[in-house]
Amino acid sequence: MPPAVSLQNVHKNYNKVPVVNDLSFSIQSGEMFGLLGPNGAGKSTTIRMLTTLTQPSQGKIEIEGYDVVRQPLAVKQNIGVVLQQTSVDIDLTVWENMELHGRLHHISNPERKQRINQWLDYVELSERRDSLVKTLSGGMKRRLQIARALLHQPKILFLDEPTVGLDPQTRRRIWEIIRDLNRQGMTMLLTTHYMDEVEYLCDRIGIMDSGKLIELGTLQEFKSRHGEGLVMKQVEERFEYKFFPTLADANAYLDSLPDKTGMMVRPSNLEDIFVEMTGRQLD
Ligand code: ADP
Repeated sequence: MPPAVSLQNVHKNYNKVPVVNDLSFSIQSGEMFGLLGPNGAGKSTTIRMLTTLTQPSQGKIEIEGYDVVRQPLAVKQNIGVVLQQTSVDIDLTVWENMELHGRLHHISNPERKQRINQWLDYVELSERRDSLVKTLSGGMKRRLQIARALLHQPKILFLDEPTVGLDPQTRRRIWEIIRDLNRQGMTMLLTTHYMDEVEYLCDRIGIMDSGKLIELGTLQEFKSRHGEGLVMKQVEERFEYKFFPTLADANAYLDSLPDKTGMMVRPSNLEDIFVEMTGRQLD
């Protein structure tokens, strides 16, 4: 079986400026993969190439074994897409948005009606089926986007910054939906610049910076590579960090110092590793 998603030496240039630079990785069927990186790293551009919205300048991308440039139709049948900007039509009702998408995918009745009911029920929007989308909250619109993306029964769901701009409670609700879909077997790729989102949801993480993949693996692998223990030292207004293989090693180091002023030990986390790798704080 081919990987669900495969990128080989993918480049994308805009006006000769590289935005995605030699990206290679693959995602296995059923995986929940998180692409993490600061704004401008190239995450959205990557998702746009994976979902046939823009073509790579160079390299090869396959979705379920189909080439995104040569077989875009087959790719589209296999994927659901939830983009950052709300792509639902705000002047139509919830039901009409679903209906339109169902027709575009040539799903005929009574199947279409049954599936629309099923997915609206799943994202808890059944009671708002006749509401105009412009009257929905941000979280409801996002849930509608997810329901719509699932209507043609894709194998892979792409989510570009699925919880950006949502309040904490609504984010949690979206997380639960994403997690539940993945448990039902859906392959997922999500982009985010939220550390907690990745830590909570993702099996495997790719960190992008300036168009390049600078780290790939599970959170546990990252910690093993960089260190599980951290000594923090306050130097005037900022902190300096020193990684140690284990928390015990970090404690032993601190114990060995005669002057422990402004220092503390704690387990490392994804943000520490990101800052260590890029020298930059995520916003
Ligand atoms: P991210 O999703 O990680 O924030 P993007 O993929 O949106 O990053 O953007 C990466 C870079 O590519 C940015 O510098 C952005 O300005 C540039 N870019 C994105 N889309 C276009 C485009 N259509 N034309 C020119 N530059 C673009």
